[in-house]
Amino acid sequence: MAHHDGRFAPSPSGPLHLGNLRTALVAWLRARSTGGRFLMRIEDLDRGRSRPEHEASQLRDLAALGLDWDGDVVRQSEREDHYAAAVARLESLDLVYPCWCTRAEIREAAEAPHGDAPEGAYPGTCAHLDAAARRAHEERGRPSALRVRAEAVEQAVQDAVSGIYAATVDDFVVRRGDGTYAYNLAVVVDDAEQRVGEVVRGDDLASSAPRQAWLASVLGHRPPTYLHVPLVLGPDGRRLAKRDGAVTLADRAALGENADVVRSQLAASLGLCAPGELPTPAELVVAFDPALLRDGAPLRWDPVAGPLG
Ligand code: GLU
Repeated sequence: MAHHDGRFAPSPSGPLHLGNLRTALVAWLRARSTGGRFLMRIEDLDRGRSRPEHEASQLRDLAALGLDWDGDVVRQSEREDHYAAAVARLESLDLVYPCWCTRAEIREAAEAPHGDAPEGAYPGTCAHLDAAARRAHEERGRPSALRVRAEAVEQAVQDAVSGIYAATVDDFVVRRGDGTYAYNLAVVVDDAEQRVGEVVRGDDLASSAPRQAWLASVLGHRPPTYLHVPLVLGPDGRRLAKRDGAVTLADRAALGENADVVRSQLAASLGLCAPGELPTPAELVVAFDPALLRDGAPLRWDPVAGPLG
């Protein structure tokens, strides 16, 4: 069987909830059940929302569930020189351009009657500015973001749950106006440099995969394959969140459910054990079968009753 070197890459902006933990469990099981490495990366580029105490609680919760990782925890905030090098490479390939658009301007341009960009995509306003127009923007002094020049290329990715998925790549941001490197750039650089073969994460990010695979290839890397895990929904049918009640490991502990119980509930929701059984992490590695995710259906979670299936 092919090794699937994987990773889990949380943003330390709050405690992990049961949906995040279930995704982490799948990522870990996928790597370990194929003899692959499993890496831990903290995506803390958003300085405003990232907190060391959230990183600490996330790592503690993952360890409590029995998920171990290889090597040191990598933090994106310590890797900015790698992102700068990738941007320099894109500049040398003439694959980026400065963009001065505000969010409101992008919304308006995308709504214009003759706009033919795919929904939600950058409409290309700054893609073909001549030198004079650029100078005028520069003189106004508003900082510019940096966007890729993707020319609406079609990019396919391979997903272990949903098969081949293709989408048009828009001119997405790789560096914001304030100089922060964008998630879509950092994730690609890191996954390539850490030799992640398969990206396992929640399927709210599935639509970003074609962008990221395209960026990996223009930077000279082989794009990873993907496994997007169906989301866990709260009782109201929306994505599970804090508002749904007792959704973190600490919340469940306060109700008398320790990490072994939560692991059992997550495993049962993945079809890996019967409700109430208490499998060890090693037993789950043996039982894991990614085909159990293949119907792609989201899981409903009632914070009182547990997973509804
Ligand atoms: N840091 C992202 C998040 O927590 C996940 C990124 C990824 O797995 O590609 O939503």
